[in-house]
Amino acid sequence: MIKLLNVTKRYSNGVEALKNVSLTIEQGEFVYLVGQSGAGKSTLVKLLYRQLVPTEGFITINNFDLRLMRERQVPKLRRTLGVVFQDFKLLPKMTVSENIGYALQVIGKSDEEIKTAVTQVLAEVGLSDQADHFPDELSGGQQQRVAIARAIINDPKTLIADEPTGNLDPQTSNDIMAILERINARGTTVIMATHNQQIVDELPHRLVEVANGTIIRDEQGGQYTHEL
Ligand code: ADP
Ligand code: ADP
Repeated sequence: MIKLLNVTKRYSNGVEALKNVSLTIEQGEFVYLVGQSGAGKSTLVKLLYRQLVPTEGFITINNFDLRLMRERQVPKLRRTLGVVFQDFKLLPKMTVSENIGYALQVIGKSDEEIKTAVTQVLAEVGLSDQADHFPDELSGGQQQRVAIARAIINDPKTLIADEPTGNLDPQTSNDIMAILERINARGTTVIMATHNQQIVDELPHRLVEVANGTIIRDEQGGQYTHEL
């Protein structure tokens, strides 16, 4: 479960990117996070994976208290999360397999375990034939699938996606959504910040709209644009 209680995030320049935000997300939900540029979506997403710490308020994710936790516990929290970005953030000098298996290597899994896990997630995202390619040899959609494979290799409870289709054409975006929905169907919570109206409207899920640092709408199956 994810719970934000009265969360305010103030940057060092004084900007209050989030103001007294409270939000609860149950395990297994699929949540779109929408709002205009500058609304506070990225700030909210960064608070979730503890790239940022709230100025005020409380955040609990997967039984971790993000405000009270010690720095050395952060890797433990991150192991319960997968994160996917608009610009993929793959390591250019590593192959697809190496990019995906790296996190397991860091936590000391054996080569055998890593190979098995990588093979499995590659099949899940439909990239078994690209295992030994480098990121720059792949299309944008394929690179995003590598990023998703990397994010789910630890079988996270929560998958956080910040504009995952932002750099992709509509057909490729639909392919990425099919993968995210499949992951969600297995019980993984998916939180997706997006500007993609077509996707939100065609694949309705819970929709949380942020404006000016506050939640102005929280609606099950909400459409991207709504009548005021
Ligand atoms: P990171 O690289 O870890 O995401 P940065 O601090 O480099 O963190 O930037 C975070 C985001 O916030 C970026 O999208 C950046 O453009 C934006 N940003 C950074 N500083 C400011 C600022 N002073 N005002 C508005 N947006 C900012
Ligand atoms: P969104 O993701 O919805 O575009 P952001 O969370 O990036 O919104 O930004 C919310 C507000 O916080 C904006 O006013 C932005 O300029 C400001 N902001 C974002 N990052 C920083 C930063 N690192 N330093 C100062 N201000 C920032």
